[in-house]
Amino acid sequence: ATTSVQPALQGRFASELPELAIAWRAETTPDPELVVLNEPLARELGLDPVWLRSPEGVGLLTGTLLPEDATPVAQAYAGHQFGGYSPRLGDGRALLLGELVGADGRLRDLHLKGSGRTPFSRGGDGLAGLGPMLREHVVSEAMHALGIPTTRSLAVVATGRPVQRDDLLPGAVLARVASSHLRVGSFQYAAASGDLDLLRRLVDHAIARHHPAAAHADRPALALLDAVIAAQASLVARWLLVGFIHGVMNTDNMTISGETIDYGPCAFMDAYDPATVFSSIDHAGRYAYASQPAVAEWNLARFAETLLPLIEDEQDAAVELATTSLRAFRPAHAAAMTAGMRAKLGLPAGLDDAAVATLANDLLELMRAGHVDLTTAFRALGTAAAGDAEPFRGLFLDLEGIDRWLATWRATGPDPAPMARANPVYVPRNHLVEEALAAATAGDLGPLTTLLDAVSSPYDERPGLERHALPGPDDGTYQTFCG
Ligand code: AMP
Ligand code: MG
Ligand code: MG
Repeated sequence: ATTSVQPALQGRFASELPELAIAWRAETTPDPELVVLNEPLARELGLDPVWLRSPEGVGLLTGTLLPEDATPVAQAYAGHQFGGYSPRLGDGRALLLGELVGADGRLRDLHLKGSGRTPFSRGGDGLAGLGPMLREHVVSEAMHALGIPTTRSLAVVATGRPVQRDDLLPGAVLARVASSHLRVGSFQYAAASGDLDLLRRLVDHAIARHHPAAAHADRPALALLDAVIAAQASLVARWLLVGFIHGVMNTDNMTISGETIDYGPCAFMDAYDPATVFSSIDHAGRYAYASQPAVAEWNLARFAETLLPLIEDEQDAAVELATTSLRAFRPAHAAAMTAGMRAKLGLPAGLDDAAVATLANDLLELMRAGHVDLTTAFRALGTAAAGDAEPFRGLFLDLEGIDRWLATWRATGPDPAPMARANPVYVPRNHLVEEALAAATAGDLGPLTTLLDAVSSPYDERPGLERHALPGPDDGTYQTFCG
C-alpha cells in the first residue's frame, strides 16, 4: 500500500546525535520541475508516485514543503581527503530530511543533495548541476540492479536556479535514500571532539541501524569494526568484479552500512587495465581501479582508530585487538573476489580457490595486455561456455595465449548458468552516460530513459539496446569531475 500524503519522517539521527546535526532548511526552488522519479523505489518506501509528482510531492523531494514536525539537519563529519585530514567537512550542499519507515519496516534516510548552502559550505555554493545529479541517478540505479549495495536515487528535480561551474548549468536537487549516511568521517568527527559519550551514542546508533548482532558481543565497538570490515571487503570486491572505479574514496565517502555512496567522479572501466583512473583531480592515481582494496583497508584503519577508547580501556590492548580485526580485511576481500570470479567464470564449486584465482588472474592479464573490454569479454565467455567461443576469441590478439587459457578453463567443466547472472550485458558506459546527460541538459530525456532501461536489467540482453552493449571509443582520455 502506498500513501498519498506527506509521509511521517522520523528524526532519529537529529535527536540521538544532536552534536552531529545542525537544524537547517533547504533553499527555495524558483521553478521546480521533476526530471526523473524512481517509481519502484517510491513504492518500496510506501510513497505514491502520483502524489510525488504533485506540487506537494515535489515540495518533499526538494525539502521546500515538509511535514510540520520534520527536523531536517546538515550532518557534521570530518574526513581524510586524498590522505589529508580535514577536521570539519559536513553536509555543505546536502540535508538529511529524516528517516522513513519503508513498506518492509526498514528505516531509511531521506536526504537531499544540492539543496543550498549550510553552515558547512565553506567556499561552496551549496548547489548541484542537473547533469551530475542525473549521473548519480543512473549510476546508482545501475549498481543496485547489479546487486551491489548502494544508496539509491528517488528523484532528480530541476530547480530553475542556474549553477555556475565552468559553464552555467541548470541546477537540480537529488533526493537520495540510504540505509544511513553514517560514514567513517562521522566517527572521525565524534572521536576528535573528545566527547566519549557522543562516540558511544554514535556506535550504538550505528549498531542498531546496521549491525544489530554487534550489540550482544563482548565488545560491541569491536564487533561493529568487524562488521564494517566485512561489509567493505565484500563491497570493494563487487566493484572490482564489474570494473567500477569510485574515484574519490575519501573517509567521508565510506559508509558504515557498506553501501556505495557519493557518485561524483566514478566511472566504469571499458578496456581492462588495473591502473585506470578517470578523475580529473586524482593526479597521483591514489584511487585507481586496482588500488581500491588497499584504500578501503587504509580507511578502515582510520575507522578503527576512532573506536579504540571504546574497545578497551588500556590503549595497547585496544590497538592489538583492532589490529587483529583489520587483518581480516585481506582474506575477506580475497574470498569475495574468488567467489565472484568463480561465478563470472562459471567454475564448479569443487574447484579449489587457488585454481580459481589463477584462472582469473591469467585471463585478466591477457585482457590487460590486449586492451580487451572487461564487460564484453566476460559476457562473451558465457557464450563460449554455452558452445560458441568465437566471439570471445575474436576479442584477443594473442590467440595462442587465449586458446591455451580456454583449454585450461574448459577442462574444469564451466557452467554457463551462473555466468549469465554474474556477467552483465549493460553497464553505464562513459560515452553513453555523457551522451544521456548532455541531451537531458538540453531538454531531451530520450537517451537517459533508454540508458536507464538498459542498466536497470543489466543481465537480460534485449533488442533495441545493441549500442548499449558495445564498448565506447577507448582513446584513454576520458575524464570525470566532482560535479
Ligand atoms: P565530496 O567530494 O562530494 O564528497 O564533497 C566533499 C565536501 O565538500 C563535503 O563536505 C561536501 O558537502 C562539500 N561540497 C562539495 N560540493 C559543494 C558545493 N557545491 N557547495 C558546498 N559544499 C560542497
Ligand atoms: Mg561526499
Ligand atoms: Mg560528491
